[in-house]
Amino acid sequence: MEIAGLKLPEIAPGSVWLVGAGPGDPGLITLHGAHGLAHAEVVVFDALVDKAILDLANPQAELIFAGKRGGRPSAAQEDISAQLVALARDRRRVLRLKGGDPCVFGRGGEEALALAQAGIPFRMVPGITAGIGGLAYAGIPATHRDTNAAITFITGHATGGAVPSDLDWQALAQGSPTLVIYMGLRHLKRIAGLLMEAGRDGAEPVAILTDATLPSQRTLVTTLAQADADAAAAAMTPPALIVVGKNVAFHAQLDWFHALSEPR
Ligand code: SAH
Repeated sequence: MEIAGLKLPEIAPGSVWLVGAGPGDPGLITLHGAHGLAHAEVVVFDALVDKAILDLANPQAELIFAGKRGGRPSAAQEDISAQLVALARDRRRVLRLKGGDPCVFGRGGEEALALAQAGIPFRMVPGITAGIGGLAYAGIPATHRDTNAAITFITGHATGGAVPSDLDWQALAQGSPTLVIYMGLRHLKRIAGLLMEAGRDGAEPVAILTDATLPSQRTLVTTLAQADADAAAAAMTPPALIVVGKNVAFHAQLDWFHALSEPR
């Protein structure tokens, strides 16, 4: 495919592209991603991928769901990797589609390793991770010279479901002015507690973003001390990001998304 003179590569038969779909809004997929979807023969997709993005796939393509839905356990990671290898060995043009960026809390690295070990050629097509796209749609600059010269992405959920115990919350709290926590809503009380114990001010602004970049996007601005109670009162539900940091305060002035969809 050529877009304005740009020649884009094709998925070769027998190879796999690991593609990031972006956080939700279909307009946020890359040109490589959209082009790959248009000519892939098989698309293996996750639960967080919006239906509107699958509409970009070739109508002839086989669509295979490989995620978690309605609380049922997700397909085992080894099974998904083995399936990708098997599809590529059948000489299919395979596209593995994941929400956000495939390698940001998305196990893209594990799948790439399985492909590399099996000798299957692959390409990584990065996507806009929720921690970047979601913040932009909430009018929260990821960095701003007045508030934060660093930003840290954290998972609030280890493999077993608990708050990751191998993270040094003290160091994170003291070392990074802005923290973006993925998969943390269920453990918000504990995470906020850990951060306050480590010296973060309970009055510090916190944003909770759900369904970021989608028409159903919600943004709740609260404080570290109040975050858990406010999130429960507002019935915030996953997928959610928790943003802790002074840059959250810009939301009040920069909330372009709701200003567009709900003119006051
Ligand atoms: N690879 C993905 C993250 C997968 S982990 C990425 O790069 O974005 C799943 C978590 O991502 C969710 O629990 C939530 O914390 C976050 N997330 C993904 N999409 C989101 C969205 N549209 N709105 C809010 N959070 C989102």
